[in-house]
Amino acid sequence: MARVNEHYLKLTASYLFSEIARRVKAFQAAHPGAKIIRLGIGDVTQPLPPAVIAALHAAVDEMGRAATFRGYGPEPGYEFLAELIARHDYASRGVTVATDEIFVSDGAKSDTGNIQEIFAADCVIALTDPVYPVYLDSNVMAGRAGDAGADGRYDRVVYLPCVAENGFEPPLPERPVDLVYLCFPNNPTGAVLSRAALRRWVDWAREHGAVLLYDAAYEAYIRDTDVPHSIYEIEGARAVAIEFRSFSKTAGFTGTRCAFTVVPREVQGRDAAGAPVSLNALWLRRQSTKFNGVPYVVQRGAAAVYTDEGQKQVRALVDHYMDNARVIRDGLEAAGLRVYGGRNAPYIWVKTPPGLSSWDFFDKLLGEAHVVGTPGAGFGPSGEGYFRLTAFGQRGETQEAVERIKRRLAL
Ligand code: PLP
Repeated sequence: MARVNEHYLKLTASYLFSEIARRVKAFQAAHPGAKIIRLGIGDVTQPLPPAVIAALHAAVDEMGRAATFRGYGPEPGYEFLAELIARHDYASRGVTVATDEIFVSDGAKSDTGNIQEIFAADCVIALTDPVYPVYLDSNVMAGRAGDAGADGRYDRVVYLPCVAENGFEPPLPERPVDLVYLCFPNNPTGAVLSRAALRRWVDWAREHGAVLLYDAAYEAYIRDTDVPHSIYEIEGARAVAIEFRSFSKTAGFTGTRCAFTVVPREVQGRDAAGAPVSLNALWLRRQSTKFNGVPYVVQRGAAAVYTDEGQKQVRALVDHYMDNARVIRDGLEAAGLRVYGGRNAPYIWVKTPPGLSSWDFFDKLLGEAHVVGTPGAGFGPSGEGYFRLTAFGQRGETQEAVERIKRRLAL
């Protein structure tokens, strides 16, 4: 019998969503008449923008004619899309990114999960806590995390607690680390990093020879004009940062699949002898070997996001979800809860009432308001005492959920 990769057996995180599903199912079975509203989902609910739909149709027609048919595409993506990304997402903010530094992919999940492959097995990683679980789990699978202790922490991972007391801003690591995963606007806390805070990270990484893995999947939700959308808005970041972006939460591509990762030419790792190695070259090699590229049709759909119409429609989508965020924030504050996030992010991070753990609050909300959210403890030990709601629900359901919480849970 083939021996398995035993690092997989050290994974603990899948417990969260299966446990939520189990509790919801048990509640529904006991209360068949209850209308449960799910505000725990991280998936969008609005349809694709019309400009994207038109582009997808046109691209499908191209595939049906011999003269315009496309087979295998370039693994890092078509130049037409990379050029639009470079111009609209970067040059418009005064940032220079070349098209051969942009790698179009099928998701920020895949890229943030796969990027660790180009680093050594003994690299030390640091993560914010709470965290989007993919960063941690992909390193557990690779054997880089060590073993989980009784407190849920892996012994080779450096955890950077993000809690109300530090404004959900990760502290700089106190011991040497090689890779740091940062996600801003943050899932799950909804926090953003100011320009000064991001500069501290870039300066620290330059000084310590670390690489920052910067997940900006939610940058379109930033409202404050002084919050950076890209880490490359910070001087010197090109030498130390890889940035991940996605069309998922911006243009509704969660089921259509398109994202991209920027690996600047300056950012380097080193080999065993200490000689510098281009991470751009390694990532190109990795993607060319293991990834087939995003379908032509889908890349045409993503390109339509950058048309005038597409930009307007995407802004309307984001505005729609941010209105949901406001409804949730205002409602929960009116119910006497302490609420964070939801101003520059589609996530609302709620402090659970005194004496209630994340799971206690989950049970209370489900039992009394028939609303499902996500217990903060599921995102890491420092998420205990918090609870995540998302702004991605249908408007009517979001309003109803908030009214129920106000009626049943007013403190
Ligand atoms: N990064 C973060 C922080 C996320 O929350 C998510 C999705 O929930 C993703 C990445 C996944 O993005 P994609 O749909 O592009 O794989």
